[in-house]
Amino acid sequence: MPASASRPPSADWSASARPWVVMKFGGTSVAAPERWRVIADIARERLDAGERVLIVHSALAGVSNLLEALPAAALAGAGEGAAEAVKDAHRAFAAKAGLDADALLAGPFDLITRRAAGIAYSGEASARLRAELMAQGELMASVLGLECLRGAGLEAETLDAREALVALNTADEARAWLDNSAGEDADPALQARLANAQLVLTQGFIARHRDGGTVLLGRGGSDTSAAYFAARIGAARLEIWTDVPGLFSADPRLTEGARHLRALSYEEAQEIATMGGKVLHPRCIGPARRANIPLEVRSTLRPELAGTTISASPGDDAPRLKAVSVKTGVRLVAMEGSGMWRQAGFLADVFAGFKACGVSVDLVSTSETNVTVSLDPDPGLDAARLERLRETLAPLCRVRIIENAAAVSLLGYGIRRILHQLAPALEMFQDKPIRLVSQAANDLNFTVVVDEAEGAALAKRLHEELISPAPEGPVFGPSWAELARPADARPARSAPWWRTKRAALLDAAPDTGGLYVYDLETVSARARAVAGIQSLSRAFYAMKANAHRDVLRAIRAAGLGFECVSPGEIARLQETFSDLTPDEVLFTPNFAHRSEYEAARAFGAHLTIDGLHPLTHWAETLRGAEVILRVNPDRPRGHHQHVKTAGPKAKFGIPLEALDEARAAAEAAGVRVIGLHAHAGSGVTEADHWREIGAILANAARHFPDARILNCGGGLGVPESPDAPALDLAEVDAQLALLKKAHPRFELWMEPGRYPVAEAGVLLARVTQVKHAFGARFIGLGTGMNSLIRPALYGARHEIVNLTRLDEPGAGLASVVGPICESADLLGAERLLPETREGDVMLIAEAGAYGAVMASRYNLREPAGERVI
Ligand SMILES: *Cc1c(COP(=O)(O)O)cnc(C)c1O
Repeated sequence: MPASASRPPSADWSASARPWVVMKFGGTSVAAPERWRVIADIARERLDAGERVLIVHSALAGVSNLLEALPAAALAGAGEGAAEAVKDAHRAFAAKAGLDADALLAGPFDLITRRAAGIAYSGEASARLRAELMAQGELMASVLGLECLRGAGLEAETLDAREALVALNTADEARAWLDNSAGEDADPALQARLANAQLVLTQGFIARHRDGGTVLLGRGGSDTSAAYFAARIGAARLEIWTDVPGLFSADPRLTEGARHLRALSYEEAQEIATMGGKVLHPRCIGPARRANIPLEVRSTLRPELAGTTISASPGDDAPRLKAVSVKTGVRLVAMEGSGMWRQAGFLADVFAGFKACGVSVDLVSTSETNVTVSLDPDPGLDAARLERLRETLAPLCRVRIIENAAAVSLLGYGIRRILHQLAPALEMFQDKPIRLVSQAANDLNFTVVVDEAEGAALAKRLHEELISPAPEGPVFGPSWAELARPADARPARSAPWWRTKRAALLDAAPDTGGLYVYDLETVSARARAVAGIQSLSRAFYAMKANAHRDVLRAIRAAGLGFECVSPGEIARLQETFSDLTPDEVLFTPNFAHRSEYEAARAFGAHLTIDGLHPLTHWAETLRGAEVILRVNPDRPRGHHQHVKTAGPKAKFGIPLEALDEARAAAEAAGVRVIGLHAHAGSGVTEADHWREIGAILANAARHFPDARILNCGGGLGVPESPDAPALDLAEVDAQLALLKKAHPRFELWMEPGRYPVAEAGVLLARVTQVKHAFGARFIGLGTGMNSLIRPALYGARHEIVNLTRLDEPGAGLASVVGPICESADLLGAERLLPETREGDVMLIAEAGAYGAVMASRYNLREPAGERVI
């Protein structure tokens, strides 16, 4: 055991006298052999410091989703392919680690195959069986992880989590197997069993049923498992390792100025985790709090950072606002009637109505004549159930349901005593409604509900006024922007092209206005990378992202086709390429005029239909056509509400439930459906997204015997900042390969727009003026939202550098603004920038997609021109 061998043996150092540390690593932290080397390094550090280590880990990233989908696939007759997909994910890992998955995992592989066959044979999958299947993900990861640790010179003991954690029975049969909780009392038997152990490897998410058998602790339950283990073995510390260095005072996507939180109480952390910080599962805090075990949240990408410590005494008792959160998709139910309070039991009747309809309430506010409650976003709460709620409540009061609200919450200890500080930020609501105000009885949370469009702006404003100015100390650490700064700590990624071509860019920068510059080498490289995705039969470039002719030429040369959404785009292609063939063009309009379909058919392009109307109303136009149907996969993804193009709120696609109707309409119109399509959103960075979409399409394609194409859409994400995780196209390819293997009958298509061009473009503009006011710095540029509207429209983040003074040290945070008369004309907020002067050339990166194409002449200012380099 190398770890202990490095310590001189000593009687006092007997293993059982040393404190335990429980460390939890999630799916992405265990997904590749090299990630296990990081885990080994972290564990070794603890061992060398005289601590004992118990590692709780998840299944390999993506595997739980595959296992969850397996019973449905087996019932649909595709169980074998689905089982192979699970195995392939482990084989891919093993191959990278030089291991033989089929030998190491023979037992679980065999079990998965037999269970898949059993489900297909019996036509049913009990909750108990599904739990057993899901557990294989964690158990297989343990086997592989053990080998990786051994390869790194660490000898670990494995512990089957089901021997240590016993689930508490629940009456509800399905929940007992699939979403249980476990006991958290100290467990002397377990402690005795591990008395001589130093390094133990066990699984998150799973526990034992009282009657034997495997139960699950609910999705995201690995954090909770780790907390149970910590409580049961009496650990000195619980460490939750993720890919961010702890909790922040706001979502960094909301503001770069979000401050690192160094210390929180259990109650504050619970509140932040519950209000939507995704870093920590809220259920894991309770067991740690009850056993009084300090909890640390840390980053496997930046193990050198101290992280956030959560304990009973965070060392700062002053009332203090610590975080701002915003939750969108909130609904309000306003109930009005006169003299409500005089009716005894009115509220009881109202809430009985909510209970009867299975609708759970989040916030409540009451007055003499009005009771308003808020409902958390809930995909299961559909129009029918809301209607039932309305009908149930109607005899009691007038009911009004307000959709699209946002809840902005202020969190921190003693919030009541600092409410007076909110006044300046709430001024922006002079002429806009505040729908509901609620102050939690625990004095930790103050929430206002406003219209969804205002939520982010209000949260940002509150953060800027109340948290950003706080000095660094025991509570607040540096901002997200400052933490992202040390270049040597970033994962190695090649320097962006604009660093190497800096001199040419400085020459090109115009004196006034702005200029987009596109690097054709980068366009070609990214387009070739897309063309190189082996699992795809075809890839089309969604040219609405950037329709510059030279860019189109580079994309075509790399072997991509074009996805067009308007006749204008097809015309641009025809003007650019005299030898354009219809097979290169995929036409996917939305709510377009009938004549556009006629023109597309006359030209001969591939055609996507994205609603029933064309099929039911325009049979003459479409008769004899072969079309691809766009469906709404009800799986919205994307970096902002406005780029989520699926789900109940989206205007795109045919709902899955309406596909039977679509098939009948297509048959009646004499139209052949040769494929299905879905595009669920833009800027997606989860590599398994397109496999998921494809699986939904494959399932839907059972209704369409002629379907041979699955178009998984676009949305390949590009990281918004240099230290954000980049999407790995090889991983996308590997995931799609699993899809192809499970559904060999289909060819796969994709249609990315952003990916090939985003990083290839920059926007250049000179500094016009610099202003210091109220302790903040504003840097004005020659152009703004008239050239690049993404920050205003989507809250998109673009990296901004002072190209003239590249790499000079930061001189504090600054807001970078344009000359347009709108307060939304903000290209970047709270950016760490060097001392900046009039005339400096500023560069806004990743502006090659949805930049120039969305420009306007608002204020009658000409937007930036375009050129290539
Ligand atoms: C915009 C769009 C795309 C491209 O999306 P990106 O996020 O730029 O990759 C693909 N398909 C359809 C239907 C689109 O509307």
